[in-house]
Amino acid sequence: MSSSSYSSLQGIFDSDCLSIDAEDLKYFGTDWTRFYEPDPAAIVFPREISQVVELVQLANRDNIALVPSGGRTGLSGGAVARHQEVVVSFSKMDKILDFDEADQLVWLEAGVVTQRLQNFAEQHDCLYPVDFASSGSSQVGGNIATNAGGIKVMRYGLTRNWVAGLTVVTGKGDLLELNNGLTKNATGYDFRHLFVGSEGTLGMILGAAMRVTHPPDALHIMLVSITNMLSALQLLTICRADLAVTAFEFFSGEALQQVMLHRNLPAPMAGIAPFYVLVEFESDAGSSAALPVFEKALDQGWALDGVMSQSESDRLRLWQYREGISEAITSRTPYKHDLSVVISQAPAFLEAIEKVVSLESAAFEVIWFGHIGDGNVHLNILRPEDWQIDEFRLACEQLGLKIMAVVAQFKGSISAEHGVGLLKKNYLRHSRSDIDRVYMGKMKALFDPGLIMNPGKLV
Ligand SMILES: Cc1cc2nc3c(=O)[nH]c(=O)nc-3n(C[C@H](O)[C@H](O)[C@H](O)COP(=O)(O)OP(=O)(O)OC[C@H]3O[C@@H](n4cnc5c(N)ncnc54)[C@H](O)[C@@H]3O)c2cc1C
Repeated sequence: MSSSSYSSLQGIFDSDCLSIDAEDLKYFGTDWTRFYEPDPAAIVFPREISQVVELVQLANRDNIALVPSGGRTGLSGGAVARHQEVVVSFSKMDKILDFDEADQLVWLEAGVVTQRLQNFAEQHDCLYPVDFASSGSSQVGGNIATNAGGIKVMRYGLTRNWVAGLTVVTGKGDLLELNNGLTKNATGYDFRHLFVGSEGTLGMILGAAMRVTHPPDALHIMLVSITNMLSALQLLTICRADLAVTAFEFFSGEALQQVMLHRNLPAPMAGIAPFYVLVEFESDAGSSAALPVFEKALDQGWALDGVMSQSESDRLRLWQYREGISEAITSRTPYKHDLSVVISQAPAFLEAIEKVVSLESAAFEVIWFGHIGDGNVHLNILRPEDWQIDEFRLACEQLGLKIMAVVAQFKGSISAEHGVGLLKKNYLRHSRSDIDRVYMGKMKALFDPGLIMNPGKLV
C-alpha cells in the first residue's frame, strides 16, 4: 500500500483501530483453513458505520482490496487475506443495540459473537436457534455472510430465516437499510437475501435485526449405533413420525474414536460401530418418549445399540461426541468437503463418494460426520503426518474434482453451509451452471463496480 493510502487510513482510524503489527497481520489475515499463507497490508477495526463508508470510498479511489473479517471460523478461506488487502475486522462493532419483546427482534452490530446473541435471547426467555461448534467465536455478521447452518437446521432453518433486517455498505460505498425488521414487505427485489451468503463480495454487513423465538420444551438425546446409512434414513423416517426432532446428526466410528482420544472420553456404548446417529428431540415426557422408536429400530435391524440422555448434563455430555469432532481432527489439517444432496439420495451418494475416495487415495484417512437430517455430510480427509501441507492440498484438489463429479451426478451442492471462499472456488461449476455464474458476476459488478470487495473469492 502506498504511504499516501496509509496516511488516509490513519485519517479514518485512530491508532488503536489500525494495525500493521506482524502478529496481527498473521492472526487477522486468516481463518480456520490452514492452507493459505496470510499477507494483508493492514488491519482496521471500525467502531462506526461512517468509518466503513469512508474506508470504502478510499478503497475505490486508491484501488485497495478489502477483506471483511468476522470471527475467522470460516472453513473455506473466505476471510483469508494473502495479497496485501486491508482486513476489516468487526470485532469492535459488537453492540447489542435494542430488543423488542413484541417484535421478537434483536437489533445488533455485525461483530456480536453468535453465542452472545444466543445467551441474550435466553436471558429474555427466548431462543436464537442457529447453533454450531464454533458459535463461541463466530460473529453474527459472518454467519449472515455465509448463511450458516449447524445442528438445528432441520427444526429451525438456516441463518437466512432469522434475518429480518440488514444495514450494509455496498462495494460502491452506498449505505442500504434492507427490510427494517418487517415480517411482511412485498416491495420488489429483497436485497437482504442477496447479502445473506454473499461472503463479503458485494459489500459489508454492519448491523442486523435478528429474529428470536420461543424456547423449546425439554430436550433429550437418543444416540444410536448403526451399520450403514440406509439405516440412518429409516431411523429418520420413524423419528420424524413419532418425535419432535430438533437435530438428526451422524458420525462414523472413526470420528467417534478421534473425539474419545482428544477429549479423553469413554465409549458411549460397548464397541465401535461403523456409524452413529444422534437424535435430539423435544418432549415433556422425558427421554423415554423415544423408547418405542428405538425398540422398533432394534426389531427391524436398523439399530445395533443405543443410549438415552437421563438429565440435562447427560444430554450435553452426549453432544460432545458429535460437537467435538472438528476440534479433535484440527491438528491433522483436514481437507474438508461440505456436501449436500436431497435426503433420500444420501445413502447412495455416500456409497458413491466412498468408492471414489478409496479407489484414489489409500494413503488418506477419512472422517465422516454431518447433519444427515438435512442431507448434509462433511467429508474430512486427514493429512498423513509425513506430508507437507501444499503437497497434501494439491492431492486433495485432484481428488476433489472426482468427488465433485459425483456431486454433480447427484445434483447436489459442493458447499452446503461453509461457503465457497477460496477453497471451493474451482468446484463451483459443478453446482452452478455457466449462465448462473454469469449472472453472479453481473450482480457483483452492480454492487461492487471497482471490484474491491473480497477479490478472488466466490465469483
Ligand atoms: C469447529 C467448527 C465448527 C463449524 N460448524 C459449522 C456448522 O455446523 N455449520 C456452519 O454453517 N458452519 C460451521 N462452521 C463454519 C463457520 O463457523 C461459519 O461459516 C461461520 O458462519 C463463520 O462466521 P465468522 O464470523 O467466523 O466468519 P469469518 O470466517 O470471519 O468469515 C466468513 C466469510 O464471511 C465474510 N464476512 C465476515 N463478516 C462479514 C461482514 N460483517 N460483512 C460481510 N462479510 C463478512 C468473510 O469475508 C468471509 O468471506 C464451523 C467452523 C468451525 C471452526
